[in-house]
Amino acid sequence: MNGRSQYLPGEGRVVALCGGVGGAKLAVGLQHVLGERLSVVVNVADDFEHLGLHISPDLDTVLYTLAGLSDPVRGWGRSDETWNFMEALKQIGGETWFLLGDRDVAMHVERTRRRSSGESLTAIASDIARRLGVRSVVLPVTNDKLSTMVDSSEGELEFQRYFVGRRCEPVVKQIWFNGARNARLSEEVLASFDAEDLRLIILCPSNPYLSIDPILAVPGMAEKLRATSVPVVAISPIIDGQAIKGPTRKIMDELGLEPSNAEIARHYAGLLDGLVIDSADAAGSADLGVDVHPAPTLMTDLQSKITLAEHALAFGESLRAKHERRSRPPSKGAHHDDT
Ligand code: GDP
Repeated sequence: MNGRSQYLPGEGRVVALCGGVGGAKLAVGLQHVLGERLSVVVNVADDFEHLGLHISPDLDTVLYTLAGLSDPVRGWGRSDETWNFMEALKQIGGETWFLLGDRDVAMHVERTRRRSSGESLTAIASDIARRLGVRSVVLPVTNDKLSTMVDSSEGELEFQRYFVGRRCEPVVKQIWFNGARNARLSEEVLASFDAEDLRLIILCPSNPYLSIDPILAVPGMAEKLRATSVPVVAISPIIDGQAIKGPTRKIMDELGLEPSNAEIARHYAGLLDGLVIDSADAAGSADLGVDVHPAPTLMTDLQSKITLAEHALAFGESLRAKHERRSRPPSKGAHHDDT
């Protein structure tokens, strides 16, 4: 595929819902094509207070990645990182289960300071994105507290205790999002969906259960996807029955779900118009209940991120022509629990 104007002739905007690493990779490709016409709506349910600091893992992954500052090997945090803070903390008996690089600490200290002086997570993210040279708009889904909780073989665990502290080892029985009932979509997120020139909504290939579901759990978000007149396209995080990284596959197994594109399509049923699946899975994808677009979905370098972004955008344009307006059936909503 070549030529951006081929499928985005106007100045249309794209909104992408995104978790951490997998989603941020696609966001890089989308930013390359769309620049400031991209708004990335980011999961904040992994956020937590640690060492007195407000830490936003997915938001920072997206900011660092879009700024070209992320560590390509670790997949989180900044490249060119040093670890003096962690070493000094360990020496005096501090908590070291959650790693914070020296440069990364600056982000958490500054965010915490600005939040205590009354600024919203959105305002802080927007200012920091600008200072880091990010061209796209980066929006936390909500400014309110939202916390992923995991009911596991070791009892109820806060997300980072499960994910980092216990390295995803406990068996997952259920996932829910504390605070979801009262969380509100930020004004900026609402505006991004209401933009007159919105052309496409993309669900990035992030963990559906841990990264996209908490975004969908904020009241009004699923309704926005159902009611929008523009196509909604997801990129499957599953290739040949496997997740590229992280616990997606393990969680699917533990929840009794088949790690397949059919299950991803079922999970997002009622919200999607199309699913981009890997070319390797093209055979046997005939009856997923949504339009399917096979493409190379493994993102290993900048070019593969751009290529996948172009596929998603071109697919969106083809669906746009097909469904000028739609009304979707209600989604099953089975995983969008609240307490
Ligand atoms: P996390 O915050 O580290 O869990 O990162 P995400 O929420 O973005 O989720 C990781 C998910 O991204 C996993 O389900 C992976 O299968 C998926 N993923 C990572 N890299 C790729 C890739 O290159 N292509 C596709 N299709 N999925 C990917």
